[in-house]
Amino acid sequence: MSKTFFTVGPSQLYPTLPQHIQEALDKQIGTISHRGKQFQSIYKHATDGLRTLLSIPEDFEILFLSSATEIWERIIENCVEQHSFHCVNGSFSKRFYEFSVELGKTAVQAKAEFGSGFYAADLQIPSQTEIICLTQNETSSGVKMPVSEINKVKSKHSEALIFVDAVSSIPYPQFDFSVIDSVFFSVQKCFGLPAGLGVWILNKRVIAKAEAMLAKGIKTGTYHTIPSLLSKAKDFQTPETPNVWNIFLLGKVVEDFNKKGIEVIRKETDTKAKMLYDFLGKSSVFTYGVTDAALRSDTTIVANTSVPSGEVIKKLEAEGLVPGSGYSSYKEKQIRIANFPAISIQDTESLIQALQKHYA
Ligand SMILES: *Cc1c(COP(=O)(O)O)cnc(C)c1O
Repeated sequence: MSKTFFTVGPSQLYPTLPQHIQEALDKQIGTISHRGKQFQSIYKHATDGLRTLLSIPEDFEILFLSSATEIWERIIENCVEQHSFHCVNGSFSKRFYEFSVELGKTAVQAKAEFGSGFYAADLQIPSQTEIICLTQNETSSGVKMPVSEINKVKSKHSEALIFVDAVSSIPYPQFDFSVIDSVFFSVQKCFGLPAGLGVWILNKRVIAKAEAMLAKGIKTGTYHTIPSLLSKAKDFQTPETPNVWNIFLLGKVVEDFNKKGIEVIRKETDTKAKMLYDFLGKSSVFTYGVTDAALRSDTTIVANTSVPSGEVIKKLEAEGLVPGSGYSSYKEKQIRIANFPAISIQDTESLIQALQKHYA
């Protein structure tokens, strides 16, 4: 039986993927040269599609790296001489912060308990901060930072560069690109693709910072410094042999998203989130993982469960539905349900019905 995965990464593949994979095989995409014209048009198709989908302004660059984890490291290496600031409220935001520490920078963190988050007004950001790192959707706990709060951070700290990890929420959030300097994601979350490709969107201020650091003689890396990436990106190429296969598939799925329309995707996301949260609100077995309703994620629905998550998952998996477990030490105490574009309203309805049947 083919199962529907409600796991938050890797996640359910987008339904059109089989036909795109067949096309990739037919076109021998796994074998073409990454220095040839065919690859350049694949690269351009994917980035043009993303620009349309996310309304990315012309003066922002779109770069392909191996994963969001790599992008964390490149951000710190390329853009921090000494001082970074991080909002930490779960495992992913914590890891981003730790990268800065491990790379020898002075990293300052604002900490929030697991399951809670941040309002701009509460942040004490030191004046010498060069970059502010925000996690729009903390996938481990299901807490979001509303875009309206991200925008307020900028108005208080206009000099610092703002980097937004939106790995498990893009394309849902509607970012104001005049306010953020960079945002990034991996394709195995909301784009419903196999893992192994990270997408980094950044503006001229970020590029200027990386160039200024190099000019000062600071070592910022090798093949994936920002100038090295850009020197190839201008010709729709990458410094290394990239994940051509996944860039092709991303271009195809983005085309599907654009045909459907971003407004429809966002509306369906809202509908499914409401269905799931309404169910949690009435359940006697499950409760909200995030107390503050304003900070509950749109794309990663987290619930506390009084029945160990392993049992819940086993019961549902027998019916072809696979919710995610809690993260790390919350593994058995919580379940996480992906609300990504690959999951239909009908899929979400089926999951809720199964949960209701077993755990009224
Ligand atoms: C999954 C995830 C990452 C890491 O993505 P990789 O593709 O594994 O590098 C980073 N940040 C968040 C918020 C995530 O959910």
